[in-house]
Amino acid sequence: MRIDIITLFPEMCENVMSESIIGRARQKGAITICTHQLRKYSYDKHSRVDDNPYGGGKGMLIKVEPLEACYKDLCDIVGEKPYFIYMSPRGRVLNQEKIKSLANKKNIAILCGHYEGIDERFIEEYVDEEISIGDYVLTGGELPALVLADALSRMADGVLSENICFEEESHYNGLLEYPQYTRPTQWHNKKVPDVLLSGHHANIKSWRREQSIIKTIQNRPDLLENADLSKDELKFISEVDQTNKKC
Ligand code: SAM
Repeated sequence: MRIDIITLFPEMCENVMSESIIGRARQKGAITICTHQLRKYSYDKHSRVDDNPYGGGKGMLIKVEPLEACYKDLCDIVGEKPYFIYMSPRGRVLNQEKIKSLANKKNIAILCGHYEGIDERFIEEYVDEEISIGDYVLTGGELPALVLADALSRMADGVLSENICFEEESHYNGLLEYPQYTRPTQWHNKKVPDVLLSGHHANIKSWRREQSIIKTIQNRPDLLENADLSKDELKFISEVDQTNKKC
């Protein structure tokens, strides 16, 4: 997978994407992440890329010309039109299902907005999708782009040691992850559940599944509606529900 990020702050993106798992994955070539300084495509002698919005209002907007020049250059570099995402609080809110579907794409380009955003005509002309990382507003699209690039990268082959690393995690199958423990077995008055020390793989698997469901009921009951659950699990959920109502 190749991810290109168009930004006014490439160093901010490079710094984050050079660390830890993603940094190592880039070094060994499991993923390619490139950043592009939008300011380089300014026609202005002061390298400005923004201007006042028509109709008035506070704040500035990124202009269409530098955006278009940068995007066209990027398409030439990549050798095709990448799937083009604009990070925006107006977009659909990102979730793991969206990550799974985007992870199949070979080339993805991400545009980070700034100031009050970008000229709408550029979105209409070139952007395939607007994606938000949540119902709040940040100062720029860099953090959202990094969130998206990180979540996509860890799904690419060779980034994590095994696919099971993400397949058992929260959200992958519509549920939250079960509780996890490491050494020591006893800490303060809290002991690691016996089943995890039993070495009985089938029991561990079913305990984890049950705990996943319980965590989801407690923290994100809204997810259960779309989760893939067996008849027994649905019965279990309604029993937990009844017990909770009685409490
Ligand atoms: N005026 C815009 C609005 O009300 O929708 C907000 C602009 S925001 C201050 C500047 C940039 O930050 C946006 O263009 C976008 O790229 C990014 N941004 C801010 N919040 C975001 C979010 N929740 N998800 C994705 N991108 C966001």
